[in-house]
Amino acid sequence: MKAVVLCGGKGTRLGLTDRPKAMVPVAGRPLLERLVEDVRDAGFTDIVLLTGHLAEVIEAHFGDGSAFGVRIEHVREAEPLGTAGAVRDARHLLTGPFLVLYGDTLLDVDLARMAAFHAEHGGLGTLFVHPNDHPHDSDLLVADTDHRIRRFLPKPHPDGAMLPNLVSAALYVLDPAAIDAVPADGASDWGRDIFPAIVAAGERLNAYRSVEYVKDIGTPARLAKGEADLASGRVARLSHRHAKPALFLDRDGVLNVEINGVHRAQDLHLMPDAGDAVRMANAAGVPVICVTNQPDIAKGFLTEETLGEVMAALDTGLAASGAYLDDTFVCPHHPERGWPGEVAALKIDCDCRKPKPGLLLAAADRHHLDLSRSWLIGDRHADIAAAHAAGARAVLLETGHAGNDAGNRRADPDHVAATLTDAVAFVLKALAE
Ligand SMILES: [Mg+2]
Ligand SMILES: [Zn+2]
Repeated sequence: MKAVVLCGGKGTRLGLTDRPKAMVPVAGRPLLERLVEDVRDAGFTDIVLLTGHLAEVIEAHFGDGSAFGVRIEHVREAEPLGTAGAVRDARHLLTGPFLVLYGDTLLDVDLARMAAFHAEHGGLGTLFVHPNDHPHDSDLLVADTDHRIRRFLPKPHPDGAMLPNLVSAALYVLDPAAIDAVPADGASDWGRDIFPAIVAAGERLNAYRSVEYVKDIGTPARLAKGEADLASGRVARLSHRHAKPALFLDRDGVLNVEINGVHRAQDLHLMPDAGDAVRMANAAGVPVICVTNQPDIAKGFLTEETLGEVMAALDTGLAASGAYLDDTFVCPHHPERGWPGEVAALKIDCDCRKPKPGLLLAAADRHHLDLSRSWLIGDRHADIAAAHAAGARAVLLETGHAGNDAGNRRADPDHVAATLTDAVAFVLKALAE
């Protein structure tokens, strides 16, 4: 598989005059050199550099790539063609699926794993997606439980909109057929123009959700943050190469007020400290993963679509504090029959309904988590038991159900806390020791 790197940008905001943006020094080395070596180390040795502004600087630095152990082809645009237009003009070099990277991103991603995900799910492309701390002024997207992108929600967003916090990062795997959607002439962008057109045409694009580090560093402030994240080890620590601890959060009674089934977005009410507590964990660089039983889907009180709206309300509430969930795992099942509107296929004795550990195990598999160093915060003994069954530790909260299911299945929490803030502070301290 070839890797295509878009490196025609000017770097005006970084104050660069003698080199293109992709050649900005990051911790002492040109960013593009870092990208080329990362791509090579992931096993991609055929690289296409799409250049424009000051292309000669890049051509002189990399040549044919032999000094870096790769084969490099250069395609220089005569005028700015946008991200999609530039790839269109390199089409003659692209015969199979290819990676697309942007020359102004700092990343540490298991690229081979993402390529394998694309091969498994098919479609015209796979986009690396993650939440951010400012979804209200970001282009957002909606993906279903099969990882298929259903809609794009471009900014600006209407006031008061309930927004799912999911953003496409500047990293894709594309099939050459995706280039058919690019107009034959002129400039166009993948994110703004082409991906929405592909989805609107009913073609498949996949969302590849990962906690790995992908950030653009096109401004002095972002560059400084990227260099700080490199120095602190945060960039590498979140990589799929490393097993890392996570913070699992139950939803009802922990993040939002327990009302015995939230069936509409307007019925979701955040706990008063939820945003601040989750932001503390986000700031510490610990993946925050919601694990929630939603048996009302099986019982027919809630559809997957309505659950999506409820989760968007949760995302929006957390985003008001700059906080986000890195991922969410839902058990839609319920073991007993007898509800008039029930969904027969979901009325099963599954492996994921807490106190079983299936949701945590699935999260560990997707994000390469070290469960023995991970913690769960929940308001029921079923939560605590699920954590222990997965090999993680757990804090019982005195909010929501406050452990009132002890009669069924008393578990032995590793800690008890009065509030989510106290519980998160306890977990972060334990992880730092
Ligand atoms: Mg709960
Ligand atoms: Zn289940």
